[in-house]
Amino acid sequence: MPDVEITIIGAGVVGLAIARELSAYGDVLVIEQDISPGRGVSSRSSEVIHAGIYFPSHFLKTRLCVQGNPLLYEFCRRWQVPHRRIGKVIVAATSEEAASLEKLDALARDNGVTGLRLIDRFELKTLEPHVNGICALASPDTGIIDSHQLVKRLEALAIDNGARILCRTALVGLDQIRQGVACHVRQQGSSYRFTSRIVINAAGLSSDAVAAMAGIDIDAAGYRVHRVKGEYFRVGSRSASRINGLVYPSPEKDLTGLGIHVTKDLAGGMKLGPNAFYVDHLDYSVDPDHRHAFFENIRELLPFLTPDDLEPDMAGIRPKTQAKGAPAKDFIIAHEFGRGMPGLVNLIGIESPGLTACLSIGKLVAGMLIGADMIKGRRGTG
Ligand SMILES: Cc1cc2nc3c(=O)[nH]c(=O)nc-3n(C[C@H](O)[C@H](O)[C@H](O)COP(=O)(O)OP(=O)(O)OC[C@H]3O[C@@H](n4cnc5c(N)ncnc54)[C@H](O)[C@@H]3O)c2cc1C
Repeated sequence: MPDVEITIIGAGVVGLAIARELSAYGDVLVIEQDISPGRGVSSRSSEVIHAGIYFPSHFLKTRLCVQGNPLLYEFCRRWQVPHRRIGKVIVAATSEEAASLEKLDALARDNGVTGLRLIDRFELKTLEPHVNGICALASPDTGIIDSHQLVKRLEALAIDNGARILCRTALVGLDQIRQGVACHVRQQGSSYRFTSRIVINAAGLSSDAVAAMAGIDIDAAGYRVHRVKGEYFRVGSRSASRINGLVYPSPEKDLTGLGIHVTKDLAGGMKLGPNAFYVDHLDYSVDPDHRHAFFENIRELLPFLTPDDLEPDMAGIRPKTQAKGAPAKDFIIAHEFGRGMPGLVNLIGIESPGLTACLSIGKLVAGMLIGADMIKGRRGTG
C-alpha cells in the first residue's frame, strides 16, 4: 500500500482548490516549499474574476474560466470571501479598434459569456465619465476578489475535510513505482521519501521542473514554462476616485498580456498594469524607468492622468508555455496515463485566468481521476 493516497505539489490557489475538491474523495497531502500557502504566482495577480472573453472557444482555459466565474462568485458568497462584481469596459480608441471589439464580442458570446453589451461613447460616459473612447464592450460579470482571503478559505476548507498541508517541504524527485509514485522531498535540511497512489503537479512556475523530475522531456511535450513578468504602477487616490470599474484597452494581438489596464482593488485603490516581458530570473522589483511607457500606453484612455500620478507598485510572473513570439497557448492539464504514469496529473502553464478558474480546475481534475477509476465516491465536503 502507498503511504499516501493523493499528494498535491504546490499550495497556490490551484493546488488548494484541487485539495479542497479531492479531500472529499480521499486522504490528501499538500506539500509546499514556501513558509506558507499562497505566496507564489497566486499572491501577485490583478485579482480579477474574469468572464472568459478573450481566448478561442476550443481552449480549455476558456471553458474553465466561463465555468469558474459563477462557481467563484457562489463560493465567495457562501464562504464570505471579499469580492465585488464591479464590471469592466474594454474600450476602443479608433474605428479599427471598434471593429476588433465587435469580433471580440462575437468570440465571447461563442465562448458562452453572458451579459455582454457593445455600448456607444455616450453610454461609456455614463459608466466611466473620465474614460476616453469611441465605444466599448461592457462585461458586467467581471469582478474583483481578495485572492489572499480566497487562499485562506480554500486552505481551511481542505483542512476541515482532513487534508494535511506541509509547508517548507520541497519535492526534489519523482519515480514511477508499481503502486503509484515515489516522492523525494527535502524538509528543513532533512530528506526522505514516501509513496503516493496519485500525485498532482500544481507547482506553478516550477511545474515544468516537477514534470521533468518524472522523466518527461518537457520540450518534446510542450511543457517548458517561460516566465513573463508583469509590473504594476499605483495611482493616487485623487485619480483613482475618477474610475468606477475595470477599464481595459483593446487586447494585444498575440495575447501575451491583455494590454496595460486599470485594476481597482476592494479598498477603492487603483493600479495600472500589468505589462508583459519575458525574464530569466524571479525578480519582483518594478523598474521605475517603465513609468513613461505605462503613461504613454494609458494616456489616451485616461486623459486626466499625469506621469507624476504613477508610482511603482508590485510585479508578478506568469508561467507561460507560450514562447516569445509564438501564438497563445492553452492550459495543460494532463493525466499522464499515456506516458505510462497512471496517477500523475500535470498542470502546466496555469497563467491567467487561473485564479478565476481554480474551482473549475479542481472539478476537472476530480473528474479525470474518477473517469480513470482512480478515485470514487464522495465522502462529504464543506
Ligand atoms: C501578473 C499576473 C496577473 C494575473 N492576474 C490574474 C487575474 O486578474 N485573474 C485571474 O484569474 N488570474 C490571474 N493571474 C493568474 C493567476 O494568478 C494564476 O493562474 C494562479 O495564481 C496560479 O496558481 P497556482 O496555484 O497554479 O500557482 P502558484 O500560486 O505559484 O502555486 C504553486 C506553488 O507551488 C509551490 N512549489 C513549486 N515548486 C515546488 C516544489 N518542488 N515542491 C513544493 N512546492 C513547490 C510554490 O512555492 C507555489 O506556492 C495572474 C497572474 C499574474 C502573474
